[in-house]
Amino acid sequence: MSEKFDAIVVGAGVSGLAAAYVMATNGLNVAIIERGRKPGAKNVMGGVLYRKMMEEIIPEFWKEAPLERPIIEQNFWLLDHNSVVKTGYRGMEWADMPHNNYTVFRGKFDQWFAEKCVQAGALLINETAVKHCIVKDGRVIGVETDRPEGDLYADAVILADGVNSLLAKELGLHTEWRKDEVALAVMEVLKLSADKIEERFHLNRGMGATIELFGDGTDGMVGTAYVYTNQNHISIGCGALLSQMSERTTTPYELLERFKQHPMIKPLIEGAEPCEYYAHLIPEGGYRSVPPLVRDGVLVVGDAAQLVNGIHREGSNLAMTSGRFAAETVIRAKEANRFDRQTLSHYERLVRESFIMKDLKKYKTASKTLEDNPDYFHHYLPAVNDAMKEMFTVDGVSKSEKQKKIIKRFLRNKSVLGAARDGIKLLWAVK
Ligand SMILES: Cc1cc2nc3c(=O)[nH]c(=O)nc-3n(C[C@H](O)[C@H](O)[C@H](O)COP(=O)(O)OP(=O)(O)OC[C@H]3O[C@@H](n4cnc5c(N)ncnc54)[C@H](O)[C@@H]3O)c2cc1C
Repeated sequence: MSEKFDAIVVGAGVSGLAAAYVMATNGLNVAIIERGRKPGAKNVMGGVLYRKMMEEIIPEFWKEAPLERPIIEQNFWLLDHNSVVKTGYRGMEWADMPHNNYTVFRGKFDQWFAEKCVQAGALLINETAVKHCIVKDGRVIGVETDRPEGDLYADAVILADGVNSLLAKELGLHTEWRKDEVALAVMEVLKLSADKIEERFHLNRGMGATIELFGDGTDGMVGTAYVYTNQNHISIGCGALLSQMSERTTTPYELLERFKQHPMIKPLIEGAEPCEYYAHLIPEGGYRSVPPLVRDGVLVVGDAAQLVNGIHREGSNLAMTSGRFAAETVIRAKEANRFDRQTLSHYERLVRESFIMKDLKKYKTASKTLEDNPDYFHHYLPAVNDAMKEMFTVDGVSKSEKQKKIIKRFLRNKSVLGAARDGIKLLWAVK
C-alpha cells in the first residue's frame, strides 16, 4: 500500500468527503481512509443538512442525493414537566426548490457522497483505521494505517476524523477535550408511516418539520432535545454537556426514555417502532476550544477542530465548509508546491473570515453562561411556562393582578437586581 498521493483525507464524514470531492474534481490525486465498513456506517446526526453549504460543493445535489424531507417548519419549545411554551416558523417558500434544509440519514447520505468522490477520481479505502500521522523533520508526510505495510504518503494530510480527534491530539494540536467541551448525545430512529407523520406534524405530503426543545427534555441540563421528521421515520434525541451528564445517576438511555414519555412528546411518537439507537459526542467547546487548524503538512477540519455551533444545532454545514476551505488551500499549495504551515495557514484565514468563526465568536460565552447558572433552566424556564398559564387561564382574576403574580413568580428566591443581572448575562451571551 506504500504509495504517494497529493492529499490523504482521514475520515469519510461530511467534512472529509467535502474536502476529497473538491480536491478530486480539481485534478488532485486523493485517498480517503475510513475506518468504518463503509462511509456513514459510524456517523451519527439528527440530522438536518443545510442546502447552501452542500450546494457550494455539489451544485444541485438535491436532484440526486438521498434526502428525507425538506424542512418547512422549525420549532423551538421551552419544555417544563407538564407544559410547553412554543415558538417557531413555518414558511411556504421553504417548500419550493431549492429548499432551505433537509433531514437526511447519514448512513445513506455519506455513502452517496463518497460515491461522488470516487466518480471524481478519489480512492476510497474502507475498513482501515489511521493509527498515527507519519512525521519527518517536524512535517506530516503521510499516515500509518492498521493494514500490514499500510503506510501511505502525501503532500498534505487532512484530519477529518471526527470529535475524538486522536490524531490532532497526538500531533499536540490540542489536549484531551474537557468534559464541558463535549456533549453526550443519544438518539433513536423510530419507524412511523408517512401518513401518520404528516397528520401529527400538520404537514403537506413530503414536507418536514423539526422541533428543538430546551428544559425538561434534558432534565434541565445544558443541552437540547429534538424531534425531526424523515420520510417514514422520526429521529428523536437529546444531549447535554458531558460535565453535567456524568454527575447524574440517570444513564443517557434513561434520559431519552424519559423524554419519550413526556406528555408533549408521547402523542407524536405513539405506535412508532424503535429501529436504531446511537450515542455519540458532539464538540461543544465553541470558539475558545478551536485548536490551531494547521501544522506543516496537515490541516484539521469539522468536528475534529471543534467546529460546531451548538446554539443553532449546526455542525454538518461547518464541517462541509471547513472541508471545502481545506481543499481549496491544498489546491493552492499544490500550485506553489509548498505545504509548510505558513502556506497552509490560508485555510485558517478562510475559516476565520467566514460565518464559521464569526458565529462561534458570537456565542463564545453562551454555553458557559448557561452552565454556570442552573437557574436559567430550573427557575426561569418554568417561570415562563407559569406566566403563559397564568395569562391564558380565564378565572376572573384581573390581568394586572395576574401580571403582579407573574413578576412575583419570576422573583421567587431572587432579588430584582439578581434577576436583572441574570437577564443581562443571558442577553450578553447571545448578543
Ligand atoms: C446526535 C447528533 C445529532 C446531530 N444533529 C445534527 C444536525 O441535525 N445538523 C447538523 O448540522 N449537525 C448535527 N450534528 C453534528 C454533525 O453530525 C457533525 O458536526 C458532523 O457530522 C461532523 O462531520 P465530520 O466529518 O467532521 O465528522 P464525522 O461525521 O464524525 O466523521 C468522522 C469520520 O472519521 C472516521 N474516523 C475516525 N477516526 C478515524 C481513523 N483513525 N481512521 C479512519 N477513519 C476515522 C469515522 O469513522 C467517521 O466516518 C449532530 C451530531 C450528533 C452526535
